[in-house]
Amino acid sequence: MINIPIQIDFKDKVVVVTGAGGVICGTMARAFAQCGAKVAALDLNEEAVKKLADELKAEGFICEGYKANVLDADALEEVHQKVLADLGKCDILVNGAGGNNPRATTDNEYQHEAKEGGKSFFDLGADGVDFVFKLNFQGTLLPTQAFAKDMVENKSGCILNISSMNAYTPLTKIPAYSAAKAGISNFTQWLATHFAGTGIRCNAIAPGFLVSAQNKALLFNEDGTPTERSKKILNSTPTHRFVDADELLGATLFLCDDKSASAITGVVLPVDAGFSAYSGV
Ligand code: NAD
Repeated sequence: MINIPIQIDFKDKVVVVTGAGGVICGTMARAFAQCGAKVAALDLNEEAVKKLADELKAEGFICEGYKANVLDADALEEVHQKVLADLGKCDILVNGAGGNNPRATTDNEYQHEAKEGGKSFFDLGADGVDFVFKLNFQGTLLPTQAFAKDMVENKSGCILNISSMNAYTPLTKIPAYSAAKAGISNFTQWLATHFAGTGIRCNAIAPGFLVSAQNKALLFNEDGTPTERSKKILNSTPTHRFVDADELLGATLFLCDDKSASAITGVVLPVDAGFSAYSGV
């Protein structure tokens, strides 16, 4: 059981969460289940979502785990049909699968600091950049095409995307991930507008800096001490702290609740301990 900061009843709502095998979306999937939802946990990592589903079922909650690649439209439609049969039509979709990749990351923050033998901006390959763009952007678009059909039929529903701090101002070293997440903030507004007449709301949260598998190497040295980048993040956060995954739950559940957030669509809500508000001075 995790502590949920706000009590919202999602009883009988079918909530589809992509990336539910990961840190953030696994926590979100669990929170929805604890709030009474019927959760479909989707991830490329089948073992992780089956484990999550088994744990939740053992605790008396409703969750099914499905192997799903958010970049494969046909496979997503197959999973959609399974979710329909197992749980029913999708009411809420959380597009959580995403992330950066070392192939789209430079070694140096600034070109004038590039070292011989290191990976500079000029060494970034199109494949790595393409991978990150696809995972974050198409990985949000394709599941939305598969699952928002149910919401259009129901004339109600909610989509929650995951943007990032780097959507506001790009972070050094990760140009593709920054641009792709800026695309997600933009696409959130586009979807909110596009679906405005159907009863579907679409919002995003922009998490601040969490420690997870995908960014651990950027934040901590092998001996566990904080990297220079980690120190910079904390110095750029007025509260001098990282954000915990469970601190995203209040915003997540609130934005997905039709009663609390009935007039909220097209927003990107930072949950960032103040990072995006601070000029550094
Ligand atoms: P994570 O790596 O723990 O989880 C990501 C999950 O997505 C993994 O379980 C992975 O297997 C899955 N995945 C990857 N490719 C997939 C694919 N093609 N199809 C289906 N599933 C796939 O990362 P996280 O930190 O929990 O991140 C979740 C979301 O939050 C991502 O969109 C990430 O970009 C975003 N985010 C993370 C942070 C952070 O600091 N960790 C900050 C802002 C935004």
